[in-house]
Amino acid sequence: MLGRTHLAVGAAGAFLLTGAGLPGIGAAAVGSLLPDLDQENSLAARAFSSFGRKTGPAGMVFFGALYWWNTLTHSHIKHQPALIGLAAVFLAAALTSRHRTFTHSLLGLAVSAGLVWAVLPKLAASFALGYALHLAADMVSGRVTLLWPNPIKIGTCLAPTGGMVDLAVRLVSAAYIAANLIGTKTIL
Ligand SMILES: [Zn+2]
Repeated sequence: MLGRTHLAVGAAGAFLLTGAGLPGIGAAAVGSLLPDLDQENSLAARAFSSFGRKTGPAGMVFFGALYWWNTLTHSHIKHQPALIGLAAVFLAAALTSRHRTFTHSLLGLAVSAGLVWAVLPKLAASFALGYALHLAADMVSGRVTLLWPNPIKIGTCLAPTGGMVDLAVRLVSAAYIAANLIGTKTIL
């Protein structure tokens, strides 16, 4: 499905299933886009590369300073070097793997949700929900290697990307989010 459909489904799912507030919705939105880092023209990949180009040098200085500060102040986040290494491996794998392979697998979900849980435990469930809904939606619109590195592909082609079902799911999800944001949950 299209990136904006994933975004709408992830945010609506967070509202519906976790009753999450705005931070949770944000985490679900990030989770709903992250699997498509493996696709060059996806929303996630474009945002990531644009962000990297604009903020790369400043970001490295910022995170270096943050890491130094955390080390000095004995941050509550444990195993920071391992987490940073794992995040780097995840990103490298996500950006170089074939579409709908590693990032569209239970392994990708577990690694990324584990990283979020280690740093922001309260947002991990919403993030994982957004990510899982992305995988579910892609299994309706095509096939994914859910059990990667096992190459078996799982899914159907009931709702092609960019088709009518894609549009309908996006509109219903957006309407549900809008209804919640304006406090009229009862209409849906
Ligand atoms: Zn996808």
